[in-house]
Order: sequence, then C-alpha cells, then structure tokens
Amino acid sequence: MTDLEQQLREDLAASHHVVYHYGWDDLLATHLSVRIPQSNAVLITPHNVPFEEVSAENLVKVDLNGRVLSQNSYTVMPQAFNIHAEIYKASSSIHSAMHTHSTYGVAVSSLKSGLLFCNQQALRFYNDVAYHDYNGLALANEGHEIVQSLQDKKVMILRNHGLLTTGKTIYEALYLLYYLEKVCELQIKLQSVNDSLIELDESVCLKTKAQFERILTPEKEFAVLKRRVQYLSQNK
Ligand SMILES: [Zn+2]
Repeated sequence: MTDLEQQLREDLAASHHVVYHYGWDDLLATHLSVRIPQSNAVLITPHNVPFEEVSAENLVKVDLNGRVLSQNSYTVMPQAFNIHAEIYKASSSIHSAMHTHSTYGVAVSSLKSGLLFCNQQALRFYNDVAYHDYNGLALANEGHEIVQSLQDKKVMILRNHGLLTTGKTIYEALYLLYYLEKVCELQIKLQSVNDSLIELDESVCLKTKAQFERILTPEKEFAVLKRRVQYLSQNK
C-alpha cells in the first residue's frame, strides 16, 4: 500500500467520524468515498459498519467495475457502489463523494423551494446545487440517473431523500458537506420563525459566491474537523 493510500484511508475514516460527531449519519444507510489517484479503485464505507466504527483498516477498496480488492472481509452496499462508481466514471475531476440522510438535509430536500440563498453561508452554494427527483429507494441504475442530474454542479439535493457533495479532493467534499449541513439547519430554523426572509440581489449573490471561490481553503477546514474529532475522542 502506498503512503498516499494510507493517508486517504485515514482521512476517509476521519470523515466518517466527523459525520458521526455532528449527527449527520443514518446508522448503516449512507456512504462516503474517495478515489485512489492513478488507479481504477476507490475506498468506500464498509457495509453494515456504523460510522463511528469505520477505520482506515475496514474501509472497502473496490474497482470501478465492482470488484472488491481489499481482503478485510468487508463488502460494499450495492446501491452505494453504484452511485459512487457512476459519479467517478462520469467525471475524472471528482475525487470524493459524500451522501447523508441528515435531519436538516432531508428536511430541506423535502421542501418545494429547495435551498434558499438568504444568508452569507448559503451563498457558498449559489448556482452550484443540482436537484434529483425522488423515485423510490436507490436501485442498481440510480447512479447513472444521479450523474445525469448532477451535471457540473458540486453538490446535490436528492429531493425527499438527502444530500450529496462531491469534491476535487476529500477535503473539498467534507468542507462542502459541513457547510451544506449548516445552511440546511439554518434554513429550517429560519422557516420556523414567523417573519419573512430578506431577499438578496442576484448581483450580490454572484459576487459573494465568486469571493468564496477565491478564498477557498478546504484542506484547512478539513484539518480542523479532523483534529476536533480526535481531540474529543481522546478527552471523553
Ligand atoms: Zn440515500
């Protein structure tokens, strides 16, 4: 195993722990993955392992044809493999994908309005959110349809279902997930208040989105999130 793969394993395991720490996990139902560069393989959540128990060692290594390469006796959920593999096959620039059924994410996914761009945090995602209509539990070919809906967007709201983020790196996918979860929570809390929202001009939304793109440092936020869960686990 290369040093790079070992690092990706540690970072992907830590990502599961971050998702667990913030309560965005859904027992055994959702999944995170990262592509191993210069290979046809990805690392993905082991089937039937809760997020807090995911480790660098029990991650499943699987090639994009579905052949499990790791020999740790863990398997991958077929629907999970299908979604992640189709995303990686469709875009060589995507190197990580994360899917959650978090409370606030599912809540926003169930609203006709979708995500509202009514505050600075939400503008990180301005013009960068894809939507995918609900069609029952993900089947063997749902990944292909999800890719068709994703197009060139970085994040997706799976209507009536949950959230999906992608990234050029695992750092970017987790950074986007952190803020998407945050703005979904903010939106649901805002909508529970009996007042109207201040609308922002499109020019301001576009300007702010461009500003965010210029100051993007997802590797720094990732390092903070990783240290946070390590600190909390050591100081229980
Ligand atoms: Zn799902």
